[in-house]
Amino acid sequence: SSRVGVMGGGQLARMLAVAGVPMGLRLSAFDHAADACAAQVIAQHRARFDDAEALKRFAAEVDVVTFDFENVPASSAEALAALVPVYPPPRALAVAQDRLEEKTLFGELGIPVAGFADVDSLEGLRAAVEQLGLPCILKTRRLGYDGKGQFRLRSADDIPAAWAALGPQAESVGLILEAFVAFQREVSVVAVRGRDGEFRSWPLTENWHDAGILSASLAPAAVTPELAEQAVGHARQLAQSLDYVGVFALELFVRDGQLLANEMAPRVHNSGHWTIEGAETSQFENHLRAVLGLPLGSTAPRGHSVMLNWIGQMPDPGVVMREPGGHWHDYGKSSRPGRKVGHATLRSDDPQALAASLERIGAALGRPDLVQGAVRRLGAY
Ligand code: ATP
Ligand code: MG
Ligand code: MG
Repeated sequence: SSRVGVMGGGQLARMLAVAGVPMGLRLSAFDHAADACAAQVIAQHRARFDDAEALKRFAAEVDVVTFDFENVPASSAEALAALVPVYPPPRALAVAQDRLEEKTLFGELGIPVAGFADVDSLEGLRAAVEQLGLPCILKTRRLGYDGKGQFRLRSADDIPAAWAALGPQAESVGLILEAFVAFQREVSVVAVRGRDGEFRSWPLTENWHDAGILSASLAPAAVTPELAEQAVGHARQLAQSLDYVGVFALELFVRDGQLLANEMAPRVHNSGHWTIEGAETSQFENHLRAVLGLPLGSTAPRGHSVMLNWIGQMPDPGVVMREPGGHWHDYGKSSRPGRKVGHATLRSDDPQALAASLERIGAALGRPDLVQGAVRRLGAY
């Protein structure tokens, strides 16, 4: 039985581990945290990512290494790659870690992207705002997630506050200014590429965010086949150019029928959690198959799915479990504001039945806002 090492021990490693059980795989997680939730189900190597000796011991105990966390230092990924196969390849990880490199690559590949500029000083910020126009968003180039490390500028008067908030990090993680995209929708392509270059993607997913954190996903997204094909084409090109192996996500905005790439995630992705129940093969199973060089499974959807994220604390499971096609996922984490602690997937062959389930859940939780985007789209069928 193959042994898969996962850098990072959060819920993604945990769900990878669960997917590996039927295939007879043995997973282990490398994570420094005392409360890594994957450690509830698989062995944990507790050490820091820059601990060279611990990395060596980990490499000796696994057949392949992959990631649950995209911000593993590139040097650690390279050190591991000298000892054991590492997928996705360290270069893909490095590009995806840096918004500037990532967006530069999108541009080179002809993947449309909104205006952006490197920022390394207050004067540089002023010049970049002048160049890109307002509104715009100042972001850290590296280490941002769930909308953290971002400052939105509405007018030139916001420049000093933006610099005060993020300027101190300019040296350590770099800064990028991005034009604000007045999008009508956000979508993502979750796709997988095998060691042999075979590429497959799940149906396009539409996503909703709340305070910068993913709150809900609907798949398949209710978009034209042309738009979905374009999005998948961009993802395929990106994967080829990075010689990517494994699952990844490409996040895109849709503005006036046009796609604009936002970012990529070099790992299984929150907007692909619905594939556990809503697709023939889940993103977790296919990621494991890909990194082990096994044949990829079908990414065909099973009806319609909506995933709802639980942020901060878990609600009453009965609200979801009472629904036909309702599936509950609790990551075993403690409650904390802004933390992803679990999710639910609602699946149905009938879009109207799915919408009705969502409305009952929204009402029961006192959160009609959480489901309203997906309900509206399902109503169009
Ligand atoms: P993730 O958790 O997806 O990795 P992140 O912290 O890397 O998030 P982004 O995906 O860049 O951050 O931004 C989070 C959300 O903020 C986006 O999904 C989108 O809703 C909004 N956003 C980010 N950049 C822009 C932009 N340039 N124009 C409009 N909205 C934006
Ligand atoms: Mg991100
Ligand atoms: Mg994002």
